[in-house]
Amino acid sequence: MTRHDVAIVGGGVVGLSVAYFVKRLAPSADVAVVERDPTYEFASTLRASGGARRQFSCPENIAMSSSGIPFIPGADEELAVDGEPAHVEWRAGGYLFIVGAEAVETLRANHAAQRGQGVRADWLDADALRARFPSMNLDGIVAGVHTPDDGWCDPNGLLQGLRRKARALGVRYVADRVVAIEHDRLRVRALRLASGESLAADCIVNAAGAWAKELSSMVGMRLPIEPLRRFEHYFETPNAIEPLPYVKDTARLAFRPEGRGYSGGLVDSNEPRGYDFGVDHDYFERVVWPALAHRFPAFEACRCRRTWSGLYEQNELDGNPVIGRWAGRMENFFVVAGFSGHGMMHAPAAGRAIAELIVNGRYDTLDLTRLGYRRIEQNAPYPERGIL
Ligand SMILES: Cc1cc2nc3c(=O)[nH]c(=O)nc-3n(C[C@H](O)[C@H](O)[C@H](O)COP(=O)(O)OP(=O)(O)OC[C@H]3O[C@@H](n4cnc5c(N)ncnc54)[C@H](O)[C@@H]3O)c2cc1C
Repeated sequence: MTRHDVAIVGGGVVGLSVAYFVKRLAPSADVAVVERDPTYEFASTLRASGGARRQFSCPENIAMSSSGIPFIPGADEELAVDGEPAHVEWRAGGYLFIVGAEAVETLRANHAAQRGQGVRADWLDADALRARFPSMNLDGIVAGVHTPDDGWCDPNGLLQGLRRKARALGVRYVADRVVAIEHDRLRVRALRLASGESLAADCIVNAAGAWAKELSSMVGMRLPIEPLRRFEHYFETPNAIEPLPYVKDTARLAFRPEGRGYSGGLVDSNEPRGYDFGVDHDYFERVVWPALAHRFPAFEACRCRRTWSGLYEQNELDGNPVIGRWAGRMENFFVVAGFSGHGMMHAPAAGRAIAELIVNGRYDTLDLTRLGYRRIEQNAPYPERGIL
């Protein structure tokens, strides 16, 4: 049996962020990350679209974005190893949320909340939208909010940068699958791995993404986190369009520029839950293209070049992550999962928050108590009123 101070299950962007920040706060800490698939074939991180935005309603989400997003453009340098930078490919292209009359009050309240937390967020009425984005059909749209400091990156670049840096700082990366967690009533003790190795740890972190529910069930903790398949598409159009930010609407159409074309999709919240990676190649034509072509007629002639699927780790209680220790039960068991489609952008802030809890026993920079497991135990949703 090997022994570690901290054992993290899941080597995606979230688990690696926890590992990195633990080492930053406590350089001598002995940290292991257990990842069953070092190629990340099914990991959500590698299938994500890379968007990072401050447009949320819950103060914790706005704060995680405000404090964590700046980490991404700085990551090339911050995660450099022996002078070799990371390659996160940050693009500060901004975000634009657009709404019809039915959602304008929500947008207004969220805008006020964002401004109240110091976010640069510009209210655009229909005339301002028309002037700024002449390609957009404003039929049914009454307003938008533009956040110019938001943007997108290459999620794989962020993950690989974190992985390389964490290892350079001494984190042990274990390519193995956790099959059981040894525990007694009040504490977790060790991870049992498929290879037969046991890995004892003073504390264990569940960063298993869409598989977090299975992991927590090994210690009897119920998590309402389900795998939700969604498609991402890369598409091109021969027609000229002005430079666009990451555009989102209330029907969950979301897309952004990518190379010579665009990357995006339209989330179907009614998709049956499960570990399904199958690709419906008609989905773009049937669902995404009509929405796109309606909003931007220049996309009438667009061609979908590639479709892939990936899993959201959907928190069915309220769509917000579960972050923190299992207070009052197994105090050395931590969860950081259930980001419901926002895990890449919130990984730096959430990783640092969990690291603070582990190393210092409290949140120092951001108080994420309201996102803790208590609300799950009490069945008290804390929902996001932003556009998802
Ligand atoms: C199509 C799509 C688009 C998205 N777009 C965005 C976006 O624009 N912005 C954004 O912020 N987020 C986006 N997301 C969400 C984002 O990808 C996730 O929230 C984030 O990647 C979660 O990171 P993670 O490290 O928790 O999960 P993962 O990257 O899935 O990592 C979890 C890891 O745990 C490992 N694991 C699981 N069980 C075990 C076990 N028993 N033993 C060992 N290892 C185990 C898995 O192999 C996996 O590698 C998108 C997701 C999808 C699918």
